[in-house]
Amino acid sequence: MRKSRQYCIIAAAIFLTVAAVTSYAGEKNIRFRQTDATTTSFTIAELEHASPFDRNIIRRTFDTVAQMMNIEVNPDIPLPDIVFSSQIPLAKLPEYVGVKLNSNRFNYFSHVKNTIALVRESRIHHLAHELTHYFQFHYHIKGDITQLIYDPEPEAVRIQNRFRQTDSGLS
Ligand SMILES: [Zn+2]
Repeated sequence: MRKSRQYCIIAAAIFLTVAAVTSYAGEKNIRFRQTDATTTSFTIAELEHASPFDRNIIRRTFDTVAQMMNIEVNPDIPLPDIVFSSQIPLAKLPEYVGVKLNSNRFNYFSHVKNTIALVRESRIHHLAHELTHYFQFHYHIKGDITQLIYDPEPEAVRIQNRFRQTDSGLS
């Protein structure tokens, strides 16, 4: 049942949000690098306000999620691109996420394009949720979507919630 499992991860990975509509400004994909600044500590202010479209924030969130999942990052596995979903016209969405969708108001990890799409109003915890799906895909099921025989959501929500525990912070 290859196809239904594929549908399963697509459906499960979509995280609908209720944020204001923004206009498309033609931003390019954000590519971060292994060499970007890295630390797995965040201040409370960063957790609450920092942009998940900042390359160094992305890199730090990436490392923190990997650490939480006990994953040793393999530099040969390509890093995901990050895009503003809410600024991509519907007709162009498949170029970015590999599937047709009827809304651009979503946060999403596309295993087809190795892209994380986030609405502009997203916070670090939203990025952490989608990065969890990235690691599940590349490390847990080794890039083979037919091996997704578990619900990927509970782990993504659990990790996302750790980025919301701003009273204790992260270290
Ligand atoms: Zn999800």
